[in-house]
Amino acid sequence: MRILVVGGGPAGLFFSLLAQRAVPDATVHVREQNPPGVTYGWGVAFSESAAAALRPAAPDVVDALTAGMSHEQMVLSLDGTGVAVNVGRSHLNARWSLLASLERIAREAGVRIEHDRAADVTEAELDEWDLVVAADGVNSRTRERFAEHLVPSDELGTNWLAWYGTPKPYPPSIILRNSEHGLLMSHASQFSAEMSNFTVEVGQETFDRLGFADMTEDDSRALCEELFAESLDGAPLQSNHSPWFRTKFLSCAHWTHRNLVLIGDALHTVHPSIGSGTRFAMRDAVYLIQAMAGSAWDVEVGLKEFERSRKPVADSFQAAAKRSIDWYEGLPGRTITHPTKFALEYLMRTGRVSYREFRRQNRDVVLGYERDLR
Ligand SMILES: Cc1cc2nc3c(=O)[nH]c(=O)nc-3n(C[C@H](O)[C@H](O)[C@H](O)COP(=O)(O)OP(=O)(O)OC[C@H]3O[C@@H](n4cnc5c(N)ncnc54)[C@H](O)[C@@H]3O)c2cc1C
Repeated sequence: MRILVVGGGPAGLFFSLLAQRAVPDATVHVREQNPPGVTYGWGVAFSESAAAALRPAAPDVVDALTAGMSHEQMVLSLDGTGVAVNVGRSHLNARWSLLASLERIAREAGVRIEHDRAADVTEAELDEWDLVVAADGVNSRTRERFAEHLVPSDELGTNWLAWYGTPKPYPPSIILRNSEHGLLMSHASQFSAEMSNFTVEVGQETFDRLGFADMTEDDSRALCEELFAESLDGAPLQSNHSPWFRTKFLSCAHWTHRNLVLIGDALHTVHPSIGSGTRFAMRDAVYLIQAMAGSAWDVEVGLKEFERSRKPVADSFQAAAKRSIDWYEGLPGRTITHPTKFALEYLMRTGRVSYREFRRQNRDVVLGYERDLR
């Protein structure tokens, strides 16, 4: 069995190591365009439930990804007033350490990983492999090349985001600031002993008013540092390939073409605001392995089974992400005045947490809010 995996992100690396373990004499070859250790972004969160869902497939991988920083609470802060709520445990890793762990374990399993190698898969190349797995991320070149067969569709978000890091230690936080320029939002969370994420998000009007479109990446970073100076307490913001971007909410009508299959962000996305894209991508890998193993690695049967079994679960997760996107994108047009109401809305925005559940986990917070309403 010869398997080509395009992209050495979480989806590609996790799939490759599971495939190599499942079929030890297979050739599993990963092509990654970046040099070793080079990636975008900062820290990524895994909820405890995400870890539990992935654990049966590879307990050693999940142990490696849950050994670092973890948090139980989250702080929702509105104009400097914070409300701490219990949200269940989440584990955080620097994206580069997560990839280094996955890569080390994949190599130990026997996977061959080539860096500095951008793949450009063609119809002719599909003939050279038994299975080609495209895990080349949200801007997947493979998806674009085979768009006629895969029929992708996407919707660009209306908010603008920039993913920075900062040495200030933040508990997982959503920070809202009503400013003269409009609503300023940030998602922050400490992911290592030294660093926290600090993702800035603004609506289109604020983006235009502040002139971000005409600024260099460094000028934008410096202005964000000023805008959030009170929260950052003098700590700097740092870039790691941190341009402004709008999220792409993407799905494909067809997931496969011949012996080619898409997984992870290349196939479908969720949204940074639900902090689950990595888990979503890695779960694709697990479903694909299960479908292939269940069909004795008959590629045609296995790929059909992958789409049949994974699609309903993935669609429901994407629907929750869409509700989160709509909530966030509605924020710049609203006035939010009560931090607990904001916390309540935030936690119930995807429809996955009910008021009753929130109240059970955060009795004192809710009682305080109900008192304020009287
Ligand atoms: C601001 C922000 C915050 C986020 N926070 C979280 C979080 O807290 N928790 C979470 O779970 N997720 C989070 N995510 C989402 C997460 O980063 C992605 O969903 C996840 O990385 C998807 O994994 P992937 O392997 O599918 O794609 P990627 O991680 O994008 O990996 C794709 C890989 O393919 C490579 N590649 C691309 N084209 C080619 C080519 N032609 N040839 C060879 N290689 C190629 C790329 O270099 C890359 O290494 C966040 C995303 C953003 C933008």
